[in-house]
Amino acid sequence: MGKDNLIEELKSILKENQLLIKDDVLTRFSHIWKTNEPLQAIAVTLPRTTKEVSEIVRLCSKYDQQIIIHGGLTNLVGGTETQKNQLVISLEKMNLIEEIDSQSKTITAQSGVIVENLINAAAEKELLLPLNFGAKGSAQIGGAVSANAGGLRVFRYGMTRQMVLGLEVVLPDGTIISSLKKIIKDNSGYDLKQLFIGSEGTLGIVTRVVLRLQEAPKSRSSAFVAVKSYEKVVKLLKYLESELSGNLSGFELIWKRTYKAMTESTELIKPLSDDYEYYVLIESLGSQPKEDYELLELHIEKSLEKEIIEDAVMAKTEKELHQIWQIREDVAILASKAKFDQHFDISIPISLIGKIINSIITELENIKEVKTIFPFGHVADGNIHFIIGRDIDNSEIIDIINSIVYSPLKKHKGSLSAEHGVGLHKKKYLQTSRSEEEIKLMEQIKIMFDPKNILNPGRIVF
Ligand SMILES: Cc1cc2nc3c(=O)[nH]c(=O)nc-3n(C[C@H](O)[C@H](O)[C@H](O)COP(=O)(O)OP(=O)(O)OC[C@H]3O[C@@H](n4cnc5c(N)ncnc54)[C@H](O)[C@@H]3O)c2cc1C
Repeated sequence: MGKDNLIEELKSILKENQLLIKDDVLTRFSHIWKTNEPLQAIAVTLPRTTKEVSEIVRLCSKYDQQIIIHGGLTNLVGGTETQKNQLVISLEKMNLIEEIDSQSKTITAQSGVIVENLINAAAEKELLLPLNFGAKGSAQIGGAVSANAGGLRVFRYGMTRQMVLGLEVVLPDGTIISSLKKIIKDNSGYDLKQLFIGSEGTLGIVTRVVLRLQEAPKSRSSAFVAVKSYEKVVKLLKYLESELSGNLSGFELIWKRTYKAMTESTELIKPLSDDYEYYVLIESLGSQPKEDYELLELHIEKSLEKEIIEDAVMAKTEKELHQIWQIREDVAILASKAKFDQHFDISIPISLIGKIINSIITELENIKEVKTIFPFGHVADGNIHFIIGRDIDNSEIIDIINSIVYSPLKKHKGSLSAEHGVGLHKKKYLQTSRSEEEIKLMEQIKIMFDPKNILNPGRIVF
């Protein structure tokens, strides 16, 4: 009865095309990749304004109705999965870019704007939104803020957190907290917005954001190089950081087994043979196209002379640049190599990555159900991804694989989630990265914000 009353009250605040119930719910999905599993939910609401979000949440609070927030549905931790008694708030109709302030270098937008649209809008004004990750064409800015997305340029520009200047959020009781400031410095008390960034929609619904932009670079140069050992990968990183006058913006490591899988029987080009242990994609962003290209080329040549690297190619055209970056960005190829897959996103100190990943691989190779092991990642941030493929769907095997990947984290003060978040899938392993006291404090914060536990329940803590 309560649910019927809730739906009736929702009808009084939303237009017909903003409220989907019954069979209309089944036309939706909980993830962009699971296109064969229809959504389970009592209703999907599609607000257009912050006020509508607030009214929906107020009603849900009144009826103790659990809410699952849907952004672009690209997260990799089960954050947008639903149960049939839950209600979805999708931000997709809140897709307005409200303002680009070229002088303050900010962009203000509703949270449902696709990240790539923000990047393009900034580029039209010769400004850069340095968020760059594989799912940017589908992910929304509200989702990126809530997940504190990272990506390919973090070590130069930081995570999403470093780009957020202002935020508007609806709390689990419907209260609107609006702080759409364009200022960089603000020490007037607690920096409340930080609590919502990266908390995966457990504390509030992000409705509008102000992001900091950078001057757009005028040059982009890239090289693809082969390296013999992990020690030399670290040496190369240090060398390029010191020689490229602060222009180094990307340094992505690909293990031999991953490079082979990406380039064998796929349409991707193979810029270098697959005889080497490691491959690194290097990006430099600067202001002088010719000089920046030559500077990168010079130091790639010197790295060859010094035997830090074994072989290298420079991207000479836009097309070649796009082709070499595809080897890192089209990771869906890796997921397609086995029937079932597990995605990992761990952080470990840079100096230990080579050794730890090797020992994880050795352990995984002893499990007969494991068919594919593909490591790659943002090594300059100490962040490595793994896509591990299995031929059977068995929860025991899933747990064994999780334990192998997560077991070195506590000892080496790493993290089970560098950038993808905790969601539903990683909650069980949170203690590998956080102390009992930290988890207790997170639980207390959740209770304070959401005493009825109606907003994105089950994620991160409970
Ligand atoms: C191919 C691919 C590559 C990827 N590469 C990267 C990468 O390099 N780096 C990286 O960090 N991530 C990466 N991801 C993960 C994912 O793209 C990011 O986490 C992204 O930020 C999620 O945005 P979204 O709009 O899709 O959010 P969703 O998946 O819809 O939601 C993410 C979480 O935030 C909540 N949420 C969504 N919108 C809001 C809102 N407005 N307010 C409050 N809560 C909200 C959801 O309930 C969910 O818990 C990748 C994913 C894919 C599929």
